[in-house]
Amino acid sequence: MLRAARSASQWSSVALTGLMQDDFQLTLAQVLRRARTFPEAGGIVTLTEDGPERASFVEVAARVDRLARVLATLGVQRGERVATFAWNSQRHFECYLAIPCVGAVLHTVNIRLFSEQIAYVLNHAEDRLVFVDDSLVPLLAQIAPDLSHVEHFIVMGDGPTDGLPNALRYEDLLEAAHDGPYEYPLLDEREAASLCYTSGTTGDPKGVLYSHRSTTLHALAILGADLVGLRSADRALIVVPMFHVNAWGLPFGAALTSATLVLPGRFIQAEPLARLIESERCTVMAAVPTIYMDLLRYADEHKPPLSTLKMAVCGGAAMPISLARAFEERHGVNLVHGWGMTETSPVLAMSSPSTELDDETRWQLRAKQGRPAPLVDLRLVGEDGKEVPWDGSTSGEVEVRGPWVASGYYKEADSSDNFDDGWLRTGDIANVDQLGYVQITDRSKDLIKSGGEWISSVALENELMGHEAVREAAVIAVPDERWGERPLACVVLADGGKVSGEDLREYLCSRVAKWWLPERFMFVDALPKTSVGKFDKKALRARLADGTLGEIAGRSAL
Ligand code: AMP
Repeated sequence: MLRAARSASQWSSVALTGLMQDDFQLTLAQVLRRARTFPEAGGIVTLTEDGPERASFVEVAARVDRLARVLATLGVQRGERVATFAWNSQRHFECYLAIPCVGAVLHTVNIRLFSEQIAYVLNHAEDRLVFVDDSLVPLLAQIAPDLSHVEHFIVMGDGPTDGLPNALRYEDLLEAAHDGPYEYPLLDEREAASLCYTSGTTGDPKGVLYSHRSTTLHALAILGADLVGLRSADRALIVVPMFHVNAWGLPFGAALTSATLVLPGRFIQAEPLARLIESERCTVMAAVPTIYMDLLRYADEHKPPLSTLKMAVCGGAAMPISLARAFEERHGVNLVHGWGMTETSPVLAMSSPSTELDDETRWQLRAKQGRPAPLVDLRLVGEDGKEVPWDGSTSGEVEVRGPWVASGYYKEADSSDNFDDGWLRTGDIANVDQLGYVQITDRSKDLIKSGGEWISSVALENELMGHEAVREAAVIAVPDERWGERPLACVVLADGGKVSGEDLREYLCSRVAKWWLPERFMFVDALPKTSVGKFDKKALRARLADGTLGEIAGRSAL
């Protein structure tokens, strides 16, 4: 009798709804609420020309309210995009909360893009306002006439505003806005909170549109001990730019847990960073490998005390294990390898192997990109479209899905090339070992990552092939000690064409950003092609590796 009753309820098809407050929206309003809750905990330190400036989160939250009022006065509507063009600072953080909390979309623009791309993303996003650091005004002034939607530039700082039409001053606006709590709209957690563009392999940059829900869940996740493990006692030096994937979500995570944010402004050279670590007793740091390489060189020479740092997140590009060893052995700093993408908010995996493991095994695992974060589903897909096993040697393209993974690109009707049955194709080729550690071995996307920033090989090829002496050009990444990767241009000359690498660099100078210019050129008779006639970069890389491609001409390093 009893058995029969049990099996009937087991097979009942009526779902039982949980009795929890599931209508509680996961929005950045919760982050703002936390920021103003604990008067004694956390805050922001910003390095400026005049030294560090400090504010508690309670003070910051009051300024966020004023900024919200300014946005309303300027007529910013729900869902409208508002851009920032700025270094890491308290004011930038205020934009991080005020813009999404009034229901608008924070669009963080990468200041390292070259002017045409900056104009492209501002026009594509249809930004109505741009918040800009005074030190960056000249950069923006160059393209101001090309911006079709911008109504006002709001300058953060006291420097000149020359060249910016309708410029307003951030501090003047805040001062004029009256004090007191602002009535924020009730937002749905699925509404867009922020927007960040990433380099497309071909064509223009593509927008990743984060929701309040994805951002809040991601911020919560990185507080986990196997990821960044931020706590209220931490003082986190955020060198990764706030224009790059919300500075890896760390500003939101810090506000959520009342940790202190230490923001270096535009002073991201090794010396000011080392001084900040010492004077602010930073316990956590986040930066790309190139920053750590500079810091290591400086630290080896000047021996600043860095050992307050218990966790230094190193991501955005592969972390050389020699770098982590040097930091640990010579300076007592624990570098932790992280991997992610703009499309994934960004954290996908971090490598924090158990301290119980023997030293050698730990180092091997620390060199890998790490185990997938909680709530991130990950699979490897082989060239035949079939899933490959996690055996530590078979590689495939990594595909991911999860609550902070993009499902498409902003204003792009068809993103299907980047997705596979609901999974995001990362373009990273990896194997996964039996413990679940991902090791990236290659990249299928046609891009070069130099110092943590992208160079489009396709854009370089197109420019090179515009030169009359060049018939064909294929650009591939080659390893570089300082920058991680640099472009190598393989060039087939046109009949009778005569040109040197130096000539081509000069030719490219006015066409691409300076840091894109290849230092290395190789003149070849022919380029390998795929069956459909595209440059076969895989074959090109293999021929480069086995020495059958030829001699590289040009400087060996920057
Ligand atoms: P982005 O969207 O600019 O953040 O670039 C994301 C891409 O950078 C990834 O898909 C990888 O190709 C590369 N990347 C990021 N972190 C790492 C890492 N730890 N190791 C190797 N490649 C990385």
